[in-house]
This record gives sequence, C-alpha cells and structure tokens, in this order.
Amino acid sequence: MYDRLPHKFAFCCFALTCVTFLFGTVGCQQPTGPHVADLDPYVGGRPAPMRPVDRPAPPPPKHYAGGADNGWTPPGGFSKRWQCIVVHHSASDKSTPEGMRDYHVRQRGWDDLGYHFVIGNGVKYPDGQIFVGNRWRQQKHGAHCKTPNNHYNEHGIGICLIGDFDAHPPTQKQLASLARLSSFLTAKCGIPDSKILTHGGVTHKTACPGRYFSLGPVLRIMSARAQAADPDLEANFVTP
Ligand SMILES: [Zn+2]
Repeated sequence: MYDRLPHKFAFCCFALTCVTFLFGTVGCQQPTGPHVADLDPYVGGRPAPMRPVDRPAPPPPKHYAGGADNGWTPPGGFSKRWQCIVVHHSASDKSTPEGMRDYHVRQRGWDDLGYHFVIGNGVKYPDGQIFVGNRWRQQKHGAHCKTPNNHYNEHGIGICLIGDFDAHPPTQKQLASLARLSSFLTAKCGIPDSKILTHGGVTHKTACPGRYFSLGPVLRIMSARAQAADPDLEANFVTP
C-alpha cells in the first residue's frame, strides 16, 4: 500500500498544477468587451456642448435728429425727474447769466443760478446763445417756479430768455434757440410738447415771460424742425 503513495502524491501535484494553471489563465484573462472608462455614461444621447450665455445687446443710443449734441447732454446722463419745461424772461434787456446767478446767490440765498438754461438777446449776452447752468449739468432741481407742492421746481426744466417781453417780443434768434433746445429736451427726456409751459401759465401769479411772448411760434419752429433736421442746431451752445 505504501508503494502507491508516491503515485498518489504525484497525481495530486499534477491536479493542483492543472487547477492553478486553469484559474491563473482564466482569472487574469482580460474582458473582451469595452473598458468601463470607455463606456458612454449618457443614456439617451449626449447633451449639447456648453456655450457662452448670450447677453442681451445694449439698446441703441437715442440720436437727436437735429445734429450734434455740443454739451446739452449732462455729464452723468439724464435724470428721470424731468416732466415739463417752464419758460421765463429776465424782465431786463441787460441781464447776463452771470449777473442773474450773482443775484440768485447773493440776494435770494440760493446755491446757484435758479434756471437750467439762459438764452441771450444780443445786448449783453450774444443773441440766441444758450448758456447751460450748473443745475442742468448736475441734473439738479430748479429754483424758478414756486408752487405749493414745488412740483415745477422739482420736475420742470427752467429756461430763461433774457429781455423784457412786457416791453417788446423776443428776438427771432432767441425763439429759434428756444425751439432747438426744447426739441432736444423733449426728445431726450420724453416730455410731450404739451408740457412746454410758461411761468405765468403755471402759477397765474406773474406776467412772466411777458405779454409779448407766445409759445405758438416756438412750437411751430419745433414742428418745422421735426420735418427737416438742422445740422447747425447747437451752433450757439456755450458752457458756463
Ligand atoms: Zn419767470
């Protein structure tokens, strides 16, 4: 019986070798299919590739049909406060923007000229020349048309024509400049022509801007200007 033991041992060794070989070969065999890393994780199709978000295009700038803007546009842009234009006269033919400013500051105690614009008459300030006040440049409320709720100072653009229009009418150049400026302001600030007003028309407590002044010719010039743009619109512009 003992003589068969080596044979049994040899058989066992052979069998073990075969099993080891079999498992070794099969266990290390690479899968025939694709690697996991190669599999597409998206079921039902890949999403579209990422693209930059489309930003809305900025609105086109509003262009004033009348020509170049030589400084009537405030440095910081237009305030949304403006709802109307109030026209005045200075009640003196010899006024100047500087003189009126000095009077407003020294005599009335205001911080600056009360109006936003002044239009010369050719006596001491060039005929039709438009003076732009600091209040307009700063888009600050006016000090020109007092009412109980102060609406016209808060929301009205004050324009003063130099001259005494209780004694005579304004010059043609003044009317033309007022029409040019009003066309610009109504377009830029969204003010309807019906909101171009006079001081006396608002308060009924003053004759300003005088019995020889009428808005009719100004509105007619504005209407004509709307039909045909004037490239020399802001020729009379001047800064303080
Ligand atoms: Zn007035």
